[in-house]
Order: sequence, then C-alpha cells, then structure tokens
Amino acid sequence: MTAELFRDDSYLKTAEAVVREVRADGIVLDRTIFYPTGGGQPGDTGHLARADGTRVAVADTRKGEGGILHVPAPDQPVLAPGDAVTLELDWARRHRHMRMHTCLHLLCAVIPAGVTGGQVGADRSRLDFDPGETVFDKAHIESELNRLIGEDHAVAPRWVDESELDTKPDLVRTMSVKPPRGTGRLRLLEVAGVDLQPCGGTHVARTGEIGRVVVEKIESKGKRNRRVVVALA
Ligand SMILES: [Zn+2]
Repeated sequence: MTAELFRDDSYLKTAEAVVREVRADGIVLDRTIFYPTGGGQPGDTGHLARADGTRVAVADTRKGEGGILHVPAPDQPVLAPGDAVTLELDWARRHRHMRMHTCLHLLCAVIPAGVTGGQVGADRSRLDFDPGETVFDKAHIESELNRLIGEDHAVAPRWVDESELDTKPDLVRTMSVKPPRGTGRLRLLEVAGVDLQPCGGTHVARTGEIGRVVVEKIESKGKRNRRVVVALA
C-alpha cells in the first residue's frame, strides 16, 4: 500500500519517495502527495524526478490494486523499482481543486436538499441535487456562498470511530451526507459551524482561501435532478 501523505497535509507540494513497482497501468511509490481520482475530485498531475535529472511527467493519478498508480504521460523515461524520486505536484491545478472542492461543501450547507452527485474541476464544479420542495435561487445561492467564504471559517479533517456516531447522534444529525458504515474509522471534513460530512478529498484550510465564486447556472436535469454549476471568479 502507498502511504497517503495528502490525507494529513493537503498543502505538501513536494516529497521524497521510492519506486515500489512499475506496472503497465502506472508507477507505485511507497508514499505519495498525489491525490488519486475519487469522490468527484480529479487525480493529480506533476512530475517524478530522479537525482540524475530523469523526469517523468505524471498525467493522472488513480487508485489501483495494492497502491496508488501514478500514470505517466506518453513517451516518458522508464523508472525502475528502488529508484529514489522527488515528487513535484502541479500545485496550481491542485490548489484550484482544493478551493473548488471546499466550495462544494459550502454549497451543500447552503442548499437544503439531498446531493446525488458531483464533479470538481479546476475552473468550475458542479453538484447535483434531488430538489424535493427546495427552490433554487441563483442570486441567493451565490451571495450565501460568498458570505460563507468571506466569514473565513476554519476547515479541517477529523477522524472518528464509528462507535462515536452511535454515542453522539448529534454528530450524524448535523451531517449533510450520512456516513458509510463498516469501515471502523471514518474521516470527516468539518467546515467549522457550517458543514460536517464524510469526505476523503483535499481542501483548503480556511474558506477565505476559496476566493470569490459565481454560480454560472442552475440546470434542470429531470424532475429529480437539479444541477448547480459554480466557478472561481
Ligand atoms: Zn470534501
């Protein structure tokens, strides 16, 4: 398995690692700062650099059997198991993912409807809702998002034991998404005073870091699906 350094510190831009396996579908390292595609957030890109100057461009990162797969771009030099490499994240892209992903947590808090899906992007992101009786007002949603961003709430992951969910029902009641069971430990993402839900993605440390956002459009995708598209201003 690959140690997932981004879980505890999403601000790591570089790290040292050792190549464990070179497979047809990607390179497995002993540890990584590259986030693999999941939870609606795209996989990271960047470079793996060997001390002799060899640089391998990473075009995508995915979860794989036995570890996280760093997928090289076409025609890259070939690394070997045991190679020591410096990981260089495409930080500009990842930081936009972190800002957008955190913004989607705020969107969950602003819209009192069930989330049915979502996708984070570097420029724009979307969440799909089962609207029920909820009225979707574009201007209101945008001003509420920017209010929460301006209030600069702290954002932090919090690990809890599943048993805590039973002994502290208030914890579950405040969550916008009900947690999966059967994993023992659960990673929650808390936007202080705003949102709490299970999430394994990467986020900024304070909502102010998101910066201004605009609600680009609200689309009706059938009776039970309203899509809200948000972009960084
Ligand atoms: Zn999240």
